[in-house]
Amino acid sequence: MFHIPTKIFTGEPKDFSGEFACPGARRAFIVTGKSSAANGSLLDVKGLLEANGTEVFVFDATEENPSVENVAAAARLAAEARAELFVGIGGGSPLDAVKAVMLLAANAEKNFCDADAVRMLYDPAPLCKRLPVWAVPTTAGTGSETTPFAILTLHGKQTKQSMPHLVCMEKAFLCERYTASMPRRIASGTAADALAHLAEGYLSSRAGPLTDAMAEGGIASFSQSMDALANNALDAEHRSRLLSVSALAGMVITHTKTSLPHQMSYALTYNKKIPHGEACGLLLAEFMRFHANKKRTGRILNLLGLSDLDELKKYLRGILHTRLDLSREETAAYSAAAAANPERLRAHPYPVTEKDIAGIYERSMS
Ligand code: NAP
Ligand code: ZN
Repeated sequence: MFHIPTKIFTGEPKDFSGEFACPGARRAFIVTGKSSAANGSLLDVKGLLEANGTEVFVFDATEENPSVENVAAAARLAAEARAELFVGIGGGSPLDAVKAVMLLAANAEKNFCDADAVRMLYDPAPLCKRLPVWAVPTTAGTGSETTPFAILTLHGKQTKQSMPHLVCMEKAFLCERYTASMPRRIASGTAADALAHLAEGYLSSRAGPLTDAMAEGGIASFSQSMDALANNALDAEHRSRLLSVSALAGMVITHTKTSLPHQMSYALTYNKKIPHGEACGLLLAEFMRFHANKKRTGRILNLLGLSDLDELKKYLRGILHTRLDLSREETAAYSAAAAANPERLRAHPYPVTEKDIAGIYERSMS
């Protein structure tokens, strides 16, 4: 089954001003970070909502890799404001956060505490009450606007973890102007995330004809912006393309889920503070070398216009500004953690051992 319920609007949000009316919702709650005030997205969205008669509340303290405590704080404010519509503006962090904020605000008892939030968000029992959630991405990579997933930081477990609850955005507004202010490092890291989603989806045990077509198209499209990414020369056309690639990649992983690089990245982000996209990008080439389906890994390289995996590794190292540097103890601990989640390993079409995972970490360092 293939299903994406999100209505996607590409271009200037003001050209779709009528879409900013949400029948029955008198109060909107925006979840964002600090950068949306500088790139114009917050002002535009707030103005369009208000022009349609909606009262707007703003929470602009979303953390990078948002924690449950952070989304719980936002949700308490949203509940107090009696919000009926939720809008995430920003990178994957505010877009993931807004999904959790909506779930808590709609379902939690008054004055719930952080421990209640952890229990609610990570207990698989359904959270039945739902309110509409919209997305305005300002990075191009996570695809959170088209996935039902939200990954939060669980300090209690010292890692990041996807919520079992699925929340699809009702609408997503993709405007390249909002991504123009991304510094080079964020643009490259988030683009590497989109490529990882496409490649992991294409190499997944859950891949099917529709996700294959989308992944192949997305990778071919990504290849047209590779030089611009490497040369820090992303113009409006490239930015617009990368936003579409990111949304497409989100649709792919909605159906295939992500695979080893993502599972292995969480320890790198939590413990080594490596941004999400960079962590996945650093592991991608060696994951592909480990993958037994050489026809598919070869096809990815072909679509990227690269001759071999060394070339991909070199390209990704060139655009990413981090190196992987793990001690033996760190490699062992992170491999054990990644291997401890059999559900996540199911995206890989063959059995994977802790030793295999350690090998991918080790070779990604060399
Ligand atoms: P991010 O954590 O949302 O943002 C990274 C940094 O970029 C922040 O400092 C942010 O500032 C800044 N920023 C955002 N847009 C900007 C712009 N246009 N100009 C200048 N700076 C800007 O990074 P991300 O890589 O987009 O998202 C990572 C998160 O997404 C992780 O938590 C990851 O787990 C999650 N993710 C989710 C999915 C999914 O399927 N749901 C898939 C992949 C990744 P401010 O925060 O201050 O605005
Ligand atoms: Zn990702």
